[in-house]
Amino acid sequence: MEQISNKNIDVVVAGGGAAGFFAAIHAKMERPDLSVLILEKSKELLAKVAISGGGRCNVTHHCFEPKELITRYPRGGRELLGPFHRFQPSDTIEWFESRGVKLKTEEDGRMFPVSDDSGDIIRALRAEAEALGVKIQLQCGVMGAEQKDEGYVLTLTDNRQLFCRALILATGGNRASGGWAIAEQLGHHIIQPVPSLFSFHVQDPVFNELAGVSVDPVAVSIPEMNAMQLGAMLVTHKGLSGPAILKLSAWQARELAERQDQVKIEINWVPSVAHPLEELQRMRKKFGARPVLKSKLFELPRRLWEKLCIRSGIENDIQWARLTVTQEEALFKSITAMDCQMRGKTLNKEEFVTCGGVDLKEVNMKKFQSRLHETLFFAGEVLNIDGVTGGFNFQAAWTGGFLAGSAAVEGL
Ligand SMILES: Cc1cc2nc3c(=O)[nH]c(=O)nc-3n(C[C@H](O)[C@H](O)[C@H](O)COP(=O)(O)OP(=O)(O)OC[C@H]3O[C@@H](n4cnc5c(N)ncnc54)[C@H](O)[C@@H]3O)c2cc1C
Repeated sequence: MEQISNKNIDVVVAGGGAAGFFAAIHAKMERPDLSVLILEKSKELLAKVAISGGGRCNVTHHCFEPKELITRYPRGGRELLGPFHRFQPSDTIEWFESRGVKLKTEEDGRMFPVSDDSGDIIRALRAEAEALGVKIQLQCGVMGAEQKDEGYVLTLTDNRQLFCRALILATGGNRASGGWAIAEQLGHHIIQPVPSLFSFHVQDPVFNELAGVSVDPVAVSIPEMNAMQLGAMLVTHKGLSGPAILKLSAWQARELAERQDQVKIEINWVPSVAHPLEELQRMRKKFGARPVLKSKLFELPRRLWEKLCIRSGIENDIQWARLTVTQEEALFKSITAMDCQMRGKTLNKEEFVTCGGVDLKEVNMKKFQSRLHETLFFAGEVLNIDGVTGGFNFQAAWTGGFLAGSAAVEGL
């Protein structure tokens, strides 16, 4: 790491995260003769890569069809279609494998380094940047940018100034980062940032003592938003999490924020059972003498079944044959459309991202280039792009970094 001695740099990348590194590397690859400098506000490079995927780094997803890939982005999917034709997961795999980091695919399509060590990803990126001669300055944030003389005068955290001919903003999705303030200073609009990928706080007696229980699949919906997601769901100490909940939180992130995360949710515990009511009636006819509470159905966890029965007013020894119509209806509702109240959120510790950021209408997505300034580029979470969990957020950072970096040096 070196002190900036030269006050004129060709390309400055603000942010030493996944997107910033990829952008700097590809700028320098395209034009080794130009100076490329990463300015990183914190003490650490690639900090999120280090902690990502529980320290394993879910680097991309095993999905090679751009049309399919874009369906995993609640924001920015449509705009990413073209970019994914230029740089997509197969390119990510090749990029890392050709630099000695072999990747593996898990059953659900998530891809990780074979070593399960995010350090491998970091070492590959740092080695490549170093070999190419990308300069890096730590603890040096970009706090302001003014367009001047076919470039930008940057104000740095220590109040020094620096001139660059092209600027790539890759400051991530943190409101405090200062990246959005710079984009605004240069005339861009920021779609209001709100969290995405979170668990739901839900208090309902059904979930008491069920923490750790997982059901796959369930269908969770938010009726007032006409939204539904299918997948595994995990009961936690505070409420609900797991893929179905995270997907719902991502797709409804903005509407949930508008309602302060106070909505009614509905759970169908048996979405893959074709005729659950007939199944209940069959039990009544065939096993009338059995206590309902003790004869769980639909492969639901036993404790969950008992709680659903109790919720439906069915106590210990009530037998199937003695179930009243009201109780049967209540049980059917609890199983297929159990409603409960969401009362807040917890960010998913495995991965969370920001919904919102630089408005894509003002960005030429072929080059991740500002439509307002020819020499201003964006990459990564600073943009109004976010995906569901599974490696999609890093893929957006690699793709954006590649395109922004390659384009930033054109014409310099
Ligand atoms: C706990 C956690 C786990 C995750 N796991 C995964 C995963 O496994 N797979 C996946 O696909 N996604 C994962 N994500 C999401 C993923 O980490 C982000 O989408 C991705 O890091 C975005 O990259 P970025 O480069 O745009 O931003 P960041 O990684 O946030 O990098 C931005 C950098 O810019 C710096 N910076 C900010 N402001 C300034 C400034 N003014 N000047 C200079 N520097 C500045 C920051 O310090 C930071 O280093 C995870 C997120 C979290 C929080």
